[in-house]
Amino acid sequence: MKMKIAGIQKDSIVDGPGVRLAIYVQGCSHRCAGCHNPETHDPAGGYEMSVEQITAIIEDSSCIDGVTISGGEPFEQAASAAALAAEIRRRGLDLVLYSGYSFEELLEASVVNAEIGALLQAGSLLVDGPFIIAEQNFSLPYRGSCNQRIIDLTLSMKEGSAVVSEYGPTRT
Ligand code: SF4
Repeated sequence: MKMKIAGIQKDSIVDGPGVRLAIYVQGCSHRCAGCHNPETHDPAGGYEMSVEQITAIIEDSSCIDGVTISGGEPFEQAASAAALAAEIRRRGLDLVLYSGYSFEELLEASVVNAEIGALLQAGSLLVDGPFIIAEQNFSLPYRGSCNQRIIDLTLSMKEGSAVVSEYGPTRT
C-alpha cells in the first residue's frame, strides 16, 4: 500500500515526547493561515512510498522513543496510515498522531470509516485541531496554537470522549 509523503525526520524532539521518527504525509485540505508546512498542502506534491519502505526505515531507527505521523493531514490518507500504524504498534513502538481535525470530528467519522477508527485505536496521543494563528503560542510543547490539544487516545477511545493529556504516552 502506498502513502504520499512530504518527508521523514529522524531523531525529532518536537513531534511528541522523547526522540521520535517523524513521518510527514503530503496533502492537507485544512490550509490553516500561518501553517509552518505549506509545502505539504498540495496532494499532488511530495513523493510516494510504500508502507513496507517506511516500515524498513522505522526498523533501521535505533534509540527512538516512538514514531509520529504528522502532516499534512494523516487522516486524509487513513487507509495507508492505519496500515503503517499497525506495523508500528506490532513492533511495540509508541505512536503519536497529528490532525487538523478535532478528536470529536474524527470519532464521528470513524463510525462510517473503519480506517479512521483503526488509526485512532493505534495511537497513544493525538495533537488535534487546526493551527489558529490568533492563538499562536511558542511556549506550548508539541503544538503551535492554544486551541490544539494533546489527547490521550488510549483513554479517550475507551471512554468515547476526549481526555486531555499534557504529556506522555500511556502505553509502556
Ligand atoms: S492541519 Fe496542520 S499541516 Fe494542515 S494546514 Fe493546518 S497546520 Fe498546516
